[in-house]
Amino acid sequence: MQEFLSTPNLDVYAVLGILGFFGLLEFVLGHYFETKRSVDDWILETLGFFVVVGTKLLLVSIVIFGGDYLFPATSNILENWSIWLAIPFYLLIDDVAQYWYHRSAHEYEWLWKHHRVHHQAEDMGIFVAYRNSWVYYLIMPNLWWGGIATYLGLGYAVIGGLIIKQLIVTSTHSTWKWDNFLYKHKILHPIAWVVEHVFITPAFHHAHHGKSQADSISDPNGNFGNTFSLWDQFFGTAKFTRQYPTEFGLMQDPRDPWYSQLLYPFIKSKKEGSEIAKGFKREKHVGTEPLRTELEAGTYLYCQCGFSSTQPFCNGSHQGSKYKPMVVEIEKKRKVSLCACKMTKTPPYCDDSHLKMASTNSNASKQTKDSEPQLQA
Ligand SMILES: [Zn+2]
Repeated sequence: MQEFLSTPNLDVYAVLGILGFFGLLEFVLGHYFETKRSVDDWILETLGFFVVVGTKLLLVSIVIFGGDYLFPATSNILENWSIWLAIPFYLLIDDVAQYWYHRSAHEYEWLWKHHRVHHQAEDMGIFVAYRNSWVYYLIMPNLWWGGIATYLGLGYAVIGGLIIKQLIVTSTHSTWKWDNFLYKHKILHPIAWVVEHVFITPAFHHAHHGKSQADSISDPNGNFGNTFSLWDQFFGTAKFTRQYPTEFGLMQDPRDPWYSQLLYPFIKSKKEGSEIAKGFKREKHVGTEPLRTELEAGTYLYCQCGFSSTQPFCNGSHQGSKYKPMVVEIEKKRKVSLCACKMTKTPPYCDDSHLKMASTNSNASKQTKDSEPQLQA
């Protein structure tokens, strides 16, 4: 096994083979004849692949040369490890690091700007996996870990682990929904349960790319895992529906050019309102008086972060923060009083928390007039 993994360029052939296999399947399934991809999307997804490969090689070289210079005694210190220990060891550390990195990219504004391009894809497909800014890859902890593990003598485990990971990550972004047959037949449900509770399935990851939680399938602020679903289960961000969203992408997409998406912050976007434009600042849109209105029966996404400009509803501005919108089901047309100050303990409804706010802020009534949000359905 170890000898097999030491075959020159095995990882390169494996990665290209896996991409070729899934790519061909997507082509045969007709995905590319009806794609919503723009020219910029094609450029991003093609260039992104080379950016990842180039950055990976760069980081591994930096670690190996730096390690030899700084810690020569630790070079190849783990080379006698069994492959059966080394692969899980490499892969589990890789995956937990990527879980937290990816999750942080959704919860912190500066990192979100480097991951946003990944979620602008309105169509899934194998190359969506390579859409991120260059800086996102450059500081990705698990790419550095790949270099460190290689330096410690686990190079063959890195190759073996990457092949497994590549197979899963390619399949979870692919439009070939291989897991569907497990959900269709009741007799296979126990197998489906085991598979989805260990590995990331295409349905699980597609839910992360869904446009809005309102479809009760998508969870763009959950399902952060890459290879194993263990971390999402441990840290409370897993959502298993065994269904696929029908709409992918961002709720608001300013359609930034490919070069600023790839090279932010070195080249910023000139699109007005874009998060990666020069001087972009998120503004709060909160008021101090509740919004009293009548809602028709339906599903609503109530804004909880206060950044949405379409109060009291979500417009996707919570990305890059720890907030997520709340799904509100209104069964029949009725009058509601929705919280606008976002301090309520009974969201989305007002519980008079704004009165406490007003009493602690003598200027509150003046501010209300200026900042009272407009209600838009
Ligand atoms: Zn993401």
